[in-house]
Amino acid sequence: MGKIIRIAGSLVEADGMRGTKIYELVKVGKEQLLGEIIRLNRDSASIQVYEETDGLSPGEPVTGTGQPLSVELGPGILTSIYDGVQRPLEIIQKETGHFMARGVTVSPIDKKKKWDFKPLIKKGDAVEAGDIIGEIPETKIITNKVMIPYGISGKVEWVAKAGKYTSDELLCKVKSGSKVEKVTATQMWPIRKPRPTIEKLAPEIPMVTGQRILDMFFPLAKGGAAAIPGGFGTGKTVTQHQLAKWCDADIIIYVGCGERGNEMCDVLREFPALKDPKSGESLMERSVLIANTSNMPVAAREASVYTGITLAEYYRDMGYDTSVMADSTSRWAEAMREISSRLEEMPGEEGYPAHLASRLAEFYERAGRVISLGKEGRTGSVSIIGAVSPPGGDFSEPVTQNTLKITRVFWALDTTLADRRHFPAINWLTSYSLYSDQVSPWLEKEINKDWTKTRVEAMVILQKESELKEIVQLVGPDALPEKERLLLEISRMIREDFLQQNAFHDVDTFCPLPRQYKMLKVILTLHEKAALALSKGMPLTDITKLEIIDKIARMKEIPKKDFEKRIDDMIKEITSKLG
Ligand code: ADP
Repeated sequence: MGKIIRIAGSLVEADGMRGTKIYELVKVGKEQLLGEIIRLNRDSASIQVYEETDGLSPGEPVTGTGQPLSVELGPGILTSIYDGVQRPLEIIQKETGHFMARGVTVSPIDKKKKWDFKPLIKKGDAVEAGDIIGEIPETKIITNKVMIPYGISGKVEWVAKAGKYTSDELLCKVKSGSKVEKVTATQMWPIRKPRPTIEKLAPEIPMVTGQRILDMFFPLAKGGAAAIPGGFGTGKTVTQHQLAKWCDADIIIYVGCGERGNEMCDVLREFPALKDPKSGESLMERSVLIANTSNMPVAAREASVYTGITLAEYYRDMGYDTSVMADSTSRWAEAMREISSRLEEMPGEEGYPAHLASRLAEFYERAGRVISLGKEGRTGSVSIIGAVSPPGGDFSEPVTQNTLKITRVFWALDTTLADRRHFPAINWLTSYSLYSDQVSPWLEKEINKDWTKTRVEAMVILQKESELKEIVQLVGPDALPEKERLLLEISRMIREDFLQQNAFHDVDTFCPLPRQYKMLKVILTLHEKAALALSKGMPLTDITKLEIIDKIARMKEIPKKDFEKRIDDMIKEITSKLG
């Protein structure tokens, strides 16, 4: 047992700590506050404490637990709201009131609740880590697969009959050598260690979001990582809600780290109110919220992203596609900076620790589509969408720069577009996706063989528009040749009739991939036929008068059942008027 010698905010130094390990969980002071050893020097340890350290004094005891900071994995995680070290906020609030008391230990998983367990193995079966021994309906829409924990393999000696069990009750006994291992529905996992897998797969399947600008122009792959800057009023919240609701991930883990308290309140109020469009149930039935406000201790904020990603990996291992939304990673990096300066480490750029880049990389590298442990080899994925909030919108600052080096997708939310009420306000000239080429074969096979060609054609038009706009500013549009004025008209249509998408419109809120393709195809067909008609001498004014232009402007709202026919009619109309 050690003794506190120094306290600086959430950082505590203790001596007499010989025998403890780095990243070991410790109990600090008489109140037994939760802490983690982050530096060891002979027998003195630096400890980051996950609770307020007010009132703590030198001389108080520090005890090691022998365990690293871990999360408890098991049924009941979904629908929960946790803090950064997996303390269940709602339960703590019920027990201790609005202001969290210190030193309280509440299990992250309800230990009294009985779950329906259905075994899938029998006595005598050979099992290894990752194998599924049975299933538990965890929520109305997600089935929890009870897996053999890492490190256990052998023969099943006994398995529980179908029935109701608490998460700590014995479900299976495995004879492993001379030892008999007991398996329950829960297992522990250290948050800073990625859960092992058999193989990482190439990110070649797109994560479908139903948002046209994302799917068509800047796709995220399942198991990929994207960065999204979070300037105020640019539509970050709406975009995140749209992704949570519509992206084809089964599980959503939302990590809110260190935004101002009232913003986190909005998240806690709004997110659980969202409906899952696929099942009609609350979105929380397949989500977990991890909430850290800036008035919670900074160390808990530092841990929260690891807690989030570990929970995602747990569901990934069951074979689910999961998506982690971290908002914002800038606040997380600021927590690192604060801790590092308390440790009196040599500061790097703008005071951030020198290990900022490697920490960000470690986090984003836990994204991936993988084959899980176990004999059957399930495929699951963790995708990460990290919001960054650079102070003053300056993308040259270290957190944004280091994030952009790692993530392969950047969705640039743009204040000018938001001011013009162009939503989603994602800038098509500055955003990018390095997954485009990798997901193209899938899109060409599953949706349309011309998917890539169509995307490239539209992108070229938008880029030409931005070049022409400079000329227009100097000499006015009338100085341009008709062919180029036609291009400006077409690019306006791509922007307004394709890229703009209203999150609050019943039909437009989600656009399936085949529909996205056809919408763009109509506009490009008009371009092709109109250019031909121009070259044959038809005046541009005759083209821009055509009724089809109005029809295209309204195509977003065509109900699903009429869409195919109406689009085919539109293509026919273009050909008959211009062809
Ligand atoms: P932020 O979280 O970046 O401060 P919000 O997400 O709250 O901004 O968006 C601000 C406003 O912009 C919303 O209230 C809404 O009116 C509008 N908006 C943003 N995105 C969309 C969208 N995709 N469709 C329609 N309106 C949007």
